[in-house]
Amino acid sequence: MPPAIQNPRFLLSQCRLPFHFTPAPLQLPPNPSLRRQLHRSAASALSSDPQTISRDPKSPYPSLPSPPSSQILSIRESLLSRQRTAADIADEYLDRLRRTEPQIRSFLHVSETVMREAEEVDRLVESGAALGPLAGVLIGVKDNICTADMPSTGGSKILEGYRPAFDATAVRMLKEAGAIVIGKTNMDEFGMGSTTEGSGFQVTANPWDISRVPGGSSGGSAAAVSAKQCVVSLGSDTGGSVRQPASFCGVVGLKPTYGRVSRYGLMAYASSLDVIGCFGSSVIDTAIILNAVSGHDRFDATSSTHEVPEYASCLISIDDLDSKPLKGLRVGMIRETIGDGVDMGVVSSIKDSALHLEELGAIVTEVSLPSFSLGLPAYYILASSEASSNLSRYDGVRYGNQATADELNYLYGDSRAEGFGPEVKMRILMGTYALSAGYYDAYYKRAQQVRTLVRKSFKDALDKNDILISPAAPSPAYKIGEKVNDPLAMYAGDIMTVNVNLAGVPALVAPCGFVEGGIAGLPVGLQMIASAFNEDKLLRVGHIFEQTLQNFKFVPPLLTE
Ligand code: GLN
Repeated sequence: MPPAIQNPRFLLSQCRLPFHFTPAPLQLPPNPSLRRQLHRSAASALSSDPQTISRDPKSPYPSLPSPPSSQILSIRESLLSRQRTAADIADEYLDRLRRTEPQIRSFLHVSETVMREAEEVDRLVESGAALGPLAGVLIGVKDNICTADMPSTGGSKILEGYRPAFDATAVRMLKEAGAIVIGKTNMDEFGMGSTTEGSGFQVTANPWDISRVPGGSSGGSAAAVSAKQCVVSLGSDTGGSVRQPASFCGVVGLKPTYGRVSRYGLMAYASSLDVIGCFGSSVIDTAIILNAVSGHDRFDATSSTHEVPEYASCLISIDDLDSKPLKGLRVGMIRETIGDGVDMGVVSSIKDSALHLEELGAIVTEVSLPSFSLGLPAYYILASSEASSNLSRYDGVRYGNQATADELNYLYGDSRAEGFGPEVKMRILMGTYALSAGYYDAYYKRAQQVRTLVRKSFKDALDKNDILISPAAPSPAYKIGEKVNDPLAMYAGDIMTVNVNLAGVPALVAPCGFVEGGIAGLPVGLQMIASAFNEDKLLRVGHIFEQTLQNFKFVPPLLTE
């Protein structure tokens, strides 16, 4: 049964309900180690709650032998030192993909030319020619990012069989840097959803617990990196689709500033919010990918001419870290994100992360973003409105599925009725409604006004702080099917991320802890937010945070069994 269609007024009134936050002031004693101790004992005092985090050294969660390291750099080193061939590396990933894919289902299409391309890299190594920075690196690409000679469906039946004649700019840049596209990853249809259950083809499973969702809409890209089916991957983030799955799957996810990466070749969902982002198993890998795909593109008028720094080179090696590497960094913890309606284990992980940042020398205070809860309904009105216009191009004439019909209007109508899934139809109806004469002022215009407020509240908070922190999602990964018939509950799960897209600023999610659930705990991600074009700052902080985190190993049980 497709979910019932809700009108935007209902959406506006309901969306706020589960997020009536009562701010819980964080009272920290002056001594950080005492604070940590107190925080832990407060957590264990609450341990009747099954989701309270355990950070005891004897905890059931496996401990970290060494901090996450760059897979990209280690591949490069193995190739240059001739310890391994690109073909050998590709074979290892393809083998793991073959073994894990029946359970995980991350990919909609796996490239047939991976081994051939890897052998080409080996020939370059043999000849002593210069290698691109991503030579031999296997990358998964979300299926709404166009790839020449490979299907690109955006997770929709309406584009089944569509093979673009061109590569998206981001894909072209990755290929020019030597990367090998391993395949196209599963996603909610056109990016509308938070679980991959909205895919027209299959549901991806979370490698941490295959009965749970990987998050979405870039769930396939996150699960593929988590299950080590590829080294890194591209996703897209309109309202959190890179950050929420990164949190659910225990990987690093980066949503760049709007305009940092060209959208040319990214299937438009909500053009004023869409960005291409990336996933990796370490912060440094996301920095390297960001470097490869950033920059102005004459095919995307909204892409920025802002200079691209060498993101990866600002990351300090762990051996060079002094005891207070974040000394003086002003961190604002968003009060509205750590109150009622948020899983206690998640809140606990975020507060522990705040303490960890303090131990590294940062000054953490609570900040309030007054318009925070308005962001969710405003996002759904704006995103649906833009989608209703963007998706009009799928008419059965230009691409993909075409219905048989005697009249042109039926051809359009039937092709769309057959090709689009229920969530996409609901969004098109909601968006058309919000834009229609008589309702425009009440919905679309008001949502734009809220967007202005959101931008201003982020600007104010980021004028006083270097970064803001929050959870990336109000809960860890939930069960497949749990929210599939309750669109409002699903939308409410986007509360932590949508404001960042409305403000157009960058955000990085890095694994920060576990809550109970699944076989070995479920990962939780810390969202770090900075001002526009401050990705370098985010990556530096994220890298230090990740390299100094103790007792965590972000390898899903599927790979250690
Ligand atoms: N879950 C949100 C939505 O359905 C965000 C999606 C996205 O970022 N692509 O719109």
